[in-house]
Amino acid sequence: MTDPGSDTASGGPAASAVRLAAVRHEIADACRLAGRDPGSVCLVAVSKTFPACDISPVIAAGQRVFGENRVQEAQAKWPQLREAHPDVKLHLIGPLQSNKARDAVALFDAIHTVDRPKIAAALAAEMARHGRCPELFVQVNTGAEPQKAGVLPEAADAFIAQCRDQFGLRIAGLMCIPPADAVAAPHFALLAEIAARNALTGLSMGMSADFEAAILQGATHVRVGSAIFGHRPTPA
Ligand SMILES: *Cc1c(COP(=O)(O)O)cnc(C)c1O
Repeated sequence: MTDPGSDTASGGPAASAVRLAAVRHEIADACRLAGRDPGSVCLVAVSKTFPACDISPVIAAGQRVFGENRVQEAQAKWPQLREAHPDVKLHLIGPLQSNKARDAVALFDAIHTVDRPKIAAALAAEMARHGRCPELFVQVNTGAEPQKAGVLPEAADAFIAQCRDQFGLRIAGLMCIPPADAVAAPHFALLAEIAARNALTGLSMGMSADFEAAILQGATHVRVGSAIFGHRPTPA
C-alpha cells in the first residue's frame, strides 16, 4: 500500500509526484501478477476537493486522466487547467442529477454513474444536442446499500438493455463502490460477472485502499484519490 500522505496536508507538489509514481508501480505489479498488460488499466486520478495548485504538479508528472465527483466543482476548477493541457481527460465519478446532464456532457469525457432511466434519457438528449459522446458506465450498487447510488445487481441486466434499446446509449462498462466496511473482492467479482453476461468490457472499480485487488479481478479503470493527492482537505 501507498502511504496516503503526511499528517495534515497533501505534502506538497513533490510528494504527490512521488505518490503518483508509487501508484503506477503498484498498478504495474498488480498487472504482472494478474498476467495483464499494464496498458489495460486506466488510472483515474481523483482530484475532488483539491484545488488547481495541487492538481498542476500531478499533470506535470505526466498524469492525464482525472476524476471529479461534482459537476459544479469541476466547472470551477478545470477550464483553466485544460486550456494549459488540452490532452487532459475528465471523468465524472459522482452522482449526476438530470438537471446537470447538459453541463456534464459538455465537460466530461467519461461518466461513471449512469444509474436510472431519467439520467440515461437526459444524457441521450444532451449527447444528441452536443454531438459529444462521453464514455458511459452504469453504476451498480453491489452491496445494495440504501444510501448509495447505483442500480441494484438484480436490476442491472434490464437497465443495461434499456440504456441500449430505449435510449440508444453505448455503454462502455460498469462501475461499483463496495461498502466501506466490506471485503471488496466479492463486490468486484460480482461486477465482473454482471459485465461479462452483458458483453461489457469496461470495469471501473478499485480505489486507494483496494485497486490492486480490483486489477486482479479485471478492473479496466481504477479511481485513486488519496494515494496520489494525500488526505483530502474536506470530506467529499
Ligand atoms: C473519492 C472517490 C474515489 C477515490 O477515493 P480514494 O479512497 O481517495 O482513492 C474513488 N471513487 C469514487 C466514486 C469517489 O467518490
